[in-house]
Amino acid sequence: MNLAPGEQRHHEVLIIGGGNAGISLAGRLRRYRFRDVAVVEPKSRHLYQPLFSHIAGGTADAFEAVRLQSAVTPPGVTWIQDKAVDVSADTHTVLLHSGSAVTYDHLVICPGIQNDWTAVPGLKEAMEGPHGASNYEYELAPKAWDLLRTLTSGTVVFTQPPGPASCAGAAQKPLYLACDHWRREGVLKDIRVILAVPTPTIFGMEIIDEELNRKTAEYGVEVRFSTELASVEPVGRTVELVGTVTGVAETVAYDVLHAVPPQSAPQWLKSTDLPAPGTTDGFVEVDPVILRHPRFPRIWSLGDAASTLNSKSGAALREQATVLAKNLRAVRKGRKPGTEYNQYSACPFVVSRNTVVFSEFDDKYDPMPTVPGWNDLARERRLTFIAERVMLPWVYWNLILRGRA
Ligand SMILES: Cc1cc2nc3c(=O)[nH]c(=O)nc-3n(C[C@H](O)[C@H](O)[C@H](O)COP(=O)(O)OP(=O)(O)OC[C@H]3O[C@@H](n4cnc5c(N)ncnc54)[C@H](O)[C@@H]3O)c2cc1C
Repeated sequence: MNLAPGEQRHHEVLIIGGGNAGISLAGRLRRYRFRDVAVVEPKSRHLYQPLFSHIAGGTADAFEAVRLQSAVTPPGVTWIQDKAVDVSADTHTVLLHSGSAVTYDHLVICPGIQNDWTAVPGLKEAMEGPHGASNYEYELAPKAWDLLRTLTSGTVVFTQPPGPASCAGAAQKPLYLACDHWRREGVLKDIRVILAVPTPTIFGMEIIDEELNRKTAEYGVEVRFSTELASVEPVGRTVELVGTVTGVAETVAYDVLHAVPPQSAPQWLKSTDLPAPGTTDGFVEVDPVILRHPRFPRIWSLGDAASTLNSKSGAALREQATVLAKNLRAVRKGRKPGTEYNQYSACPFVVSRNTVVFSEFDDKYDPMPTVPGWNDLARERRLTFIAERVMLPWVYWNLILRGRA
């Protein structure tokens, strides 16, 4: 529905953002018999972002990652097609872009994370030009595969940004998919592949680092550790990479640039009262265990926009959605919110066109395998590729978004 300027409505639970977090939470709340749930979401189409990496690496078609928002909004949930622009926690009101307002008993904030393409000089222009692409924008992912697929020699630079990111490791997936493609085509030896990561190791967990180091060595990738993309010169096709420990800058000429942008909280959130006082990143302050705002008890948050301690991912918020729904149900019944988020997160590294290294970890990057003690999925496997590429998208559309998984 669309609200007229000046119009005001009330909902028992109002959710800002109808992405992965918002829709899966709405589905779960309906299952828990919440009757009056509304989602504010401006876009008409819902995107399944993990498939962007497969689109960029040529193992999925773009259409597979999209559904109509109307089709994924759970039956009985009100979809307000608008954008939140401000939250007044004192009056329990969300102001919308249309000039209307919605009051709430409980508010859940999950508008995701924003891609800051202009944070690196020249990066936005490079993405708009003929030689730059990224798996972090739906529109740029098919372009990435066109560029990577048709390359037979030259230099490709892949970059992963510092700071908070949505499934940070996903920056590397198109690299492995492209390298395997080039190897099959017999041209890998003619392509110089450089990967710049901001961290001192390739991921940060010993068992995963071992596997990824083995794969990068196998493909002959030059990995630059503790290195950030400082600037791009899109016309001359060069990037400046800077070592954050050494301070040394290196200029590299590229034929293809596959970049992932720095990311931060949505701009409008940064100017509300919702981030923790004294912080600058703008993410919604929450108790990272029960997912409730510590200063505004009617406000909750999950997913990429929440200042939880875990590495941001769909896998993390799947756990969070269950915790948050159970805690809302408890509060509605006058009980304490006692369900706790265990800080689980995961990142399936697609390391070839038919294998995955599946990392599962907590907020300290200590292994947290789904089956306790069984670290086997952290090794390169075909089984986990089938799970990630074939089973998970089905589970996402049919179970997760309906609050059933
Ligand atoms: C390329 C890529 C690959 C990934 N791969 C994986 C993976 O393999 N495994 C994994 O677990 N995770 C992966 N992730 C991470 C996962 O997709 C995210 O963690 C997840 O989508 C976050 O869900 P969210 O609901 O918080 O944000 P989103 O899904 O981004 O949804 C946010 C929604 O809020 C809406 N919105 C924004 N602003 C407003 C506003 N002002 N008012 C109302 N609505 C608003 C947006 O339109 C959007 O629909 C990947 C992410 C990317 C980008």
